[in-house]
Amino acid sequence: MPDDQPTPTPVKRGLVSRTSPRAVSAAVAPTPLTEQDLSSLAPDRTEAEVEALLCALRAAPGLWLAQETLQRLITDTSSFVDGYSRALHLIERRTVHAHLAPASSRRAGPVQPLPSPAHLDPWSCDPTGIEDDSRVISVCPTCNGSEHVACGRCSGSARVSCGNCWGAGRVPGKRGTKNCGACRGAGTQRCGACSSGRVPCGPCGATGRVQAWLSISQARLPQVLVHPMGAAALVHERVKSPTDFDAGPNAWVNELISDTGDQAPYGELPSELEPELNPVTDRVLVTRLQSFSSRVHQFSYRAAGMTGIIDVAGSPPAVSRSTNWRPLRIRQITAAATAAWA
Ligand SMILES: [Zn+2]
Ligand SMILES: [Zn+2]
Ligand SMILES: [Zn+2]
Repeated sequence: MPDDQPTPTPVKRGLVSRTSPRAVSAAVAPTPLTEQDLSSLAPDRTEAEVEALLCALRAAPGLWLAQETLQRLITDTSSFVDGYSRALHLIERRTVHAHLAPASSRRAGPVQPLPSPAHLDPWSCDPTGIEDDSRVISVCPTCNGSEHVACGRCSGSARVSCGNCWGAGRVPGKRGTKNCGACRGAGTQRCGACSSGRVPCGPCGATGRVQAWLSISQARLPQVLVHPMGAAALVHERVKSPTDFDAGPNAWVNELISDTGDQAPYGELPSELEPELNPVTDRVLVTRLQSFSSRVHQFSYRAAGMTGIIDVAGSPPAVSRSTNWRPLRIRQITAAATAAWA
């Protein structure tokens, strides 16, 4: 213990655990832990356990714990083999699009109903031939074949608000107000953007007819599913990345048990590894399955009246996100509060 360490002060009863003053001291003067320290503290632990424990301590949030305190906190040590699988599905998504273009002339025909994207199964037709196969001449849906539509500026009324009097019809004069000269008091002027409130229809080029056709776009979407998401899978950093399937053993912290390579879609998969598909647009092209395993060192500890679990997995060992640091955090907050009181 360092010389400048404050003398432990008796704490108020019932507020904190009896080990608190020691933990606070450790926070003030942290002692770096070495593998040797731990080996001497826990001679019955295996090398792998000591390495895992050291890893757990380095990752502990906030404060370093005194070694003796830590030894007291840990109530149980166990290890088990944790396995998990992941599936990479390559999915093709086919989306149907509708297109319109002006017909070549007013007399183009014969006219047929517009092709409907909703009624085309993108998986029962040839995506490359669909544009020609579906092409028809139709009555323009915008103007209903009339070649003209209502003017957007005047809403088809052929008149717009007068810009000189802002639609009031009157303007300031020498004695009060007088009739607006621009609109002769009417407040409106003839719309300059149209003829009698109508303008040529854009979508059909004022022919009243359109060419209509469908197209199909194809997209390749990788989808990764992992199961079960336990301590081992949670230390596998890019476990959900499609490119990680080819990363290789040097990049993986856990041991590869099996790899099917790209295969025709599986008939039987655990439901957790089944891809999420839109039944109309999506089909699985190939599926690849990989299985991994790792020994997980699990340390149970007791703090703040609760039990927490520290999971260490992988090689090199890492603290898994399945770890529960909460009891330790609460204990540290309580210890810090006590230090402030003392
Ligand atoms: Zn039209
Ligand atoms: Zn107009
Ligand atoms: Zn006016």
